[in-house]
Amino acid sequence: MHRKVLGVRGDLVFGRARVVVFLDGCFWHGCPRCYQRPRANAAFWRRKLVVNQTRDRRQSARLRAAGWEVIRIWECDLLRRSAGGIRTVTIAVRSKRRAG
Ligand SMILES: [Zn+2]
Repeated sequence: MHRKVLGVRGDLVFGRARVVVFLDGCFWHGCPRCYQRPRANAAFWRRKLVVNQTRDRRQSARLRAAGWEVIRIWECDLLRRSAGGIRTVTIAVRSKRRAG
């Protein structure tokens, strides 16, 4: 499940359905709900976040352009309502398999 697609490592990769899932850590990827800016080394962390978010967007765009469905799930969503997050993935994979 854990493999690379177009040089990008997805957290879950469903090759036949062409669905790739990323589980984004709220701190590392800047979750709009629960990201808290560290007080120490603020400039360093701000830059780091911009780099990570830019890479996330670029990778998602590259995968979508190649025909992959990209699902990004926040860590907090997974922890708070894991059933919802898993259902999203299941529906995407099943519908793609039927279509393909
Ligand atoms: Zn979050």
